Amino acid sequence: MKITAIRTTPLLCKFKQPYHWSQGINYGAPVILIEVETDTGIVGIGEATASPVIAPVLAILQDAIPRFIGQSAYDGNRIIWNYYQAGFNARGTGSAPRYFSQALAGIELALWDAIGKAAKLPLHKLLGGAVRDKVEYFGFVQGDTPDELASHASDLSDAGFKVLYVKVGRGAELDVAIVSAIRTAVGPGARLRLDANEVWDQLTARRMFEKLEPFDIEFIEQPIPGRTGSEGLARLRAATNIPIAADQTVYCAEDAFDICRNRAADVIVLGIHETCGVVRFRKAAAVAEAAAVNICLHGVFETGITTCASNQVAATIPNMDDGNQIMWQLLAEDIVKSPNLVPKDGALPIVDAPGLGFELDRDAVNRAAEAYRETPA
Ligand SMILES: [Mg+2]
Repeated sequence: MKITAIRTTPLLCKFKQPYHWSQGINYGAPVILIEVETDTGIVGIGEATASPVIAPVLAILQDAIPRFIGQSAYDGNRIIWNYYQAGFNARGTGSAPRYFSQALAGIELALWDAIGKAAKLPLHKLLGGAVRDKVEYFGFVQGDTPDELASHASDLSDAGFKVLYVKVGRGAELDVAIVSAIRTAVGPGARLRLDANEVWDQLTARRMFEKLEPFDIEFIEQPIPGRTGSEGLARLRAATNIPIAADQTVYCAEDAFDICRNRAADVIVLGIHETCGVVRFRKAAAVAEAAAVNICLHGVFETGITTCASNQVAATIPNMDDGNQIMWQLLAEDIVKSPNLVPKDGALPIVDAPGLGFELDRDAVNRAAEAYRETPA
């Protein structure tokens, strides 16, 4: 199965409502739809996330694509890492694996989709099979004010989500008001997780952990900057009483090793766009498994394509969390027509159609492509 062409379509998938978090407000997900055409007629489909804007990620993809043309769709692992060497290391600009990964993960996913379609098998079966019957997800609380957030938290709790997840780091007073309103709204039974997205320093984090402790918090995700590494998280973890999740500190197996070795977190939040796709996601998960640390799927600005891929990979990993992040529901309109990706009682069955297992909604893709042409940045 030879690769004959790779098409890239930049998309802006608008959110239902403004997305409030510690780093600001976002209004949509910029992604690049990747379609790998082969000489068998099979087309593999994936998506690349594209932060902060689409143009530079698209430029990297366009630089990489000629290396795939004429090659076997089964040789993705080799072609991708040869391109890393030739496209990043050998150009003397230093190592940039994190940036590289978000672009090339899109091609890796599309290749898995093509391979699965050719074998008429879903991705999780190609990976050796599922170790669970369902993947469980968080209820992601949305809104701006404490009242809005508490009301949505109640709705999610009523819909069966047992893990609720809330963005904090928006100011001490507002954070406490938000968490207090949500805890009052959902009662003592709900498991409540917070994500400060890197905005606190050590001292602020210690103060905020103390203020938030009375609300029975399951963990706080990435309270301090990811670039402070495992040392920073380990220092905070030793001085505070709420468990810590590492997110922006971990992008690959080596980072997972560093977190585990330094006892820096209680859980690792990681996604397939950070690891450059499926193969390396599983490697990082295996490293964490050896330290009895679970992996929680990281949600980024993405569509149902990523939900389907992540769901299937998560199905194969023993040490998966039960409050995994899911993000397509933030979109005003998803570009995936099937399967139904609305969790029931906070869970989805394992996606079971060949490849990544989704059917694309071409009309929705066209509308998202038009939205990008209107608002490219
Ligand atoms: Mg996070």
